[in-house]
Amino acid sequence: MPSLTTESQLIRPHGGELVDRTGERPEGVDALEVVTLTPREVSDLDMLASGALSPLTGFMGLDDYERVVEEMHLASGLAWALPVCLAVPEAPRGGRVALAEGSGRLLAVLGVEDVYEYDKEREAERCFATRDDAHPGVARVYAQHDLYLAGKVTVFERQQPSFPELHRDPHETRRVFAERGWKRVVGFQTRNPIHRAHEYLTKCALETVDGLLIHPLVGETKSDDVPAGVRVEAYRVLLERYYPEGRVLVSAFPAAMRYAGPREAIWHAICRKNYGCSHFIVGRDHAGVGDYYGTYDAQLIFDEFEPHELDVEPMFFEHSFWCRACGQMATAKTCPHGGDDHVFLSGTKVRELLAGGQLPPSEFSRPEVAEVLIRAYRQ
Ligand SMILES: [Zn+2]
Repeated sequence: MPSLTTESQLIRPHGGELVDRTGERPEGVDALEVVTLTPREVSDLDMLASGALSPLTGFMGLDDYERVVEEMHLASGLAWALPVCLAVPEAPRGGRVALAEGSGRLLAVLGVEDVYEYDKEREAERCFATRDDAHPGVARVYAQHDLYLAGKVTVFERQQPSFPELHRDPHETRRVFAERGWKRVVGFQTRNPIHRAHEYLTKCALETVDGLLIHPLVGETKSDDVPAGVRVEAYRVLLERYYPEGRVLVSAFPAAMRYAGPREAIWHAICRKNYGCSHFIVGRDHAGVGDYYGTYDAQLIFDEFEPHELDVEPMFFEHSFWCRACGQMATAKTCPHGGDDHVFLSGTKVRELLAGGQLPPSEFSRPEVAEVLIRAYRQ
């Protein structure tokens, strides 16, 4: 077993310090003007609170916003890929506002620093590489209020985690990594059930580091993605049977999907660095949707940064498959055989099988995982 490490031996948070924007409920907060957040803004707020978005301490002001949109850096020069902004219909009257979730529950107070106009089409073009409102991330920007409200936040009520048993803030994942003696940890972002292909990638990555953080995104996603509850159950059965307990941590990533493809891959990598990951898996079409991004765009974008700027090391992977001739999982990089030897099922075909109560081939999906998905389809 590896020896105990200290948290100081883990990768440092982005910008050097883990931000903590939690605090006491300030006096007089009930009398403040209330800004109601969208689910995406609530999840951003919660990540600001926990330091998952370190070094950010609040919703972005104009200087940061401009430089992020145009150059993928904060005003300070630190790398950053996506705006973290709060849209409002009008400028608040006072110097502080209360932030509430949709139910009306107050979560935080924001000290108003800036209110500014922004160009939705430019944000879409720069961040999503399209102005097409059929893109779910772009549609969300177009539907927002017309002004951005900036300022530091103090969060006194945390978002109710959808999976309390999987909820771990960055300082908690860091503590677990240190307790387990891990120094080099690879993060795996996912919003899908894990079939053999992704099991293979995560295990290839794990071969070269100390530990694996399976970090499924449980914030808001498209309605046709597999529901988070089903995915969590599928991860549980997979880990129980096929991963060594002391090498893997599964924990929920509270972000909402933006579907910004390449830029979101950078953003995801920086967030995972804050959770203590020294490495981050980037597969094909990471955080993509439809055919808006090229297959490898989310890998190529890492070349636009100097390696030290991100610090967290991306691990790039090809699509993997079971090869009958190799008798193992492989990718085009490691297998010389043709498609006839490869077990490949389209997403549509897999859904058909599962909806019909049929197990996909065991070379494609672990039966335990497939059974969880079949049960979900039946309901
Ligand atoms: Zn082969």
